[in-house]
Amino acid sequence: MMLYALGALDMFGILYDFKEIRMVIFQPRMENISKYTISIEKLLDWAENTLKPTAQLATEGKGEFQVGEHCRFCKVKSTCRKRAEYNLMLAQYDFAIPAELEDTLS
Ligand code: SF4
Repeated sequence: MMLYALGALDMFGILYDFKEIRMVIFQPRMENISKYTISIEKLLDWAENTLKPTAQLATEGKGEFQVGEHCRFCKVKSTCRKRAEYNLMLAQYDFAIPAELEDTLS
């Protein structure tokens, strides 16, 4: 959303003297409205000091993969090694061998 905010600022910033930008995600089928407001100063600081260096690393094929909820939107989620390793790590909890034996067979 902050990337969209930067795009809106790029397009309309010359027309208006924005002090802050409010981002809204409206998901009527989930009955959800998410809002986030940020000052122009903080948005530009994020763009310069977080977005740019991170994008530069990605362009160079460096940086770190971050597995999370966002992966469901990713085009390479089915072939992503980091995600596969993460899912395997989670699966180990499901199939962990208990420390004590039980009387019953399952
Ligand atoms: S699936 Fe892999 S490449 Fe895609 S967002 Fe997740 S960690 Fe990043």
